[in-house]
Amino acid sequence: MSGLRITNCHVHTFTSRHVPSLFPHPLAIPFVRIPGLVRALAFLARAIGQHPWGDWLDRLYQMQIETNETRQAKILDRLIPQYPAATRFVVLPMALQSLAPGRIADPLPRQHDELAAIARDPAYAAHVIPFATIYPDAPGAADEVRRCIDELGFRGLKLYPRLGYPPDHPVLMEEVYPLMAERNLPVISHCSRGGVTGRQLTAAKAERWSSPQAFVPVLEAFPDLRVCLAHFGGEGDWRAYVEAGVNPRGGVQARQANWQVAIRDMITGWTDPETGETQKAYGNLWTDISYTLFHFEDFVPFLQVFLRNETLAGRVLFGSDYYMTRQEVLSERAVCFRLRVALGEEMFARIAQTNPEVWLGERAAP
Ligand SMILES: [Zn+2]
Repeated sequence: MSGLRITNCHVHTFTSRHVPSLFPHPLAIPFVRIPGLVRALAFLARAIGQHPWGDWLDRLYQMQIETNETRQAKILDRLIPQYPAATRFVVLPMALQSLAPGRIADPLPRQHDELAAIARDPAYAAHVIPFATIYPDAPGAADEVRRCIDELGFRGLKLYPRLGYPPDHPVLMEEVYPLMAERNLPVISHCSRGGVTGRQLTAAKAERWSSPQAFVPVLEAFPDLRVCLAHFGGEGDWRAYVEAGVNPRGGVQARQANWQVAIRDMITGWTDPETGETQKAYGNLWTDISYTLFHFEDFVPFLQVFLRNETLAGRVLFGSDYYMTRQEVLSERAVCFRLRVALGEEMFARIAQTNPEVWLGERAAP
């Protein structure tokens, strides 16, 4: 086979030990704590003829098996065999204390330490690229990122604004982004309308802080910082684009309202042919296709066309969002192979090998 070395830029290995004990809601705890219950409900749903629900609950059960895991390495043990042997995975931790009240068995520094130990373990070292994460309002938050970079050898930072902070939070702007830029390390941020939300946050605020536009102050202040807005705007905005399109008379405002279009325009730049209004291009903005492209049949033709734009083709990263994808019909392996065939070997190698290496700071842009 080819000398392809895939880098999957977006996977998770956090476990029940990193989730607050009272998440998602005290009443729902039986579902979280007893995976067998979901399975029993799946059986029941099928028995009474609700087939779609039965299948969905089955997949939810598959995801719960991962969430109920207590060791991150166990999750990697199930992920690694789905890919060619040389594949590397960018592992993104989560700081989930704002999600719910209750105790977290392994607070963030311990989650980081466990990931660092895996990255040092000869059985995993060749596969794992560890990232740090942060909850900027936590005491000593920036110091913990610095410890991850300087002492644990972590390779980048994961953000999740809808857990309760804007991307231009002062701790990030004053301490964290300067450090990442200085060390030539990338940042990745959850950017879709879905996902978990901090319990103090209104839906409107969570959405505003997750949006591509929320990153403009960061991109303006740190033009050399490589920022990936994950999920390429998310499934909902892809679906809206596919089904309803974008008003061609709406100018930049209408295009920015769809996050998929917004991210493309912010990467390539855009000029309204009629009014001359422009969207500025950001030279170090990236996106990944994780989770969103698991809706394969509907979305992949659009991705193929978008990638004909040379600038965009150099800024899209392959990622999957394992193990969130466990709730989808297609396996990780099935999507990866379909994508490889649909895009062709050359374009697949670009988004899965070359672009991740550039984004990680391992090589210069070709
Ligand atoms: Zn994710």
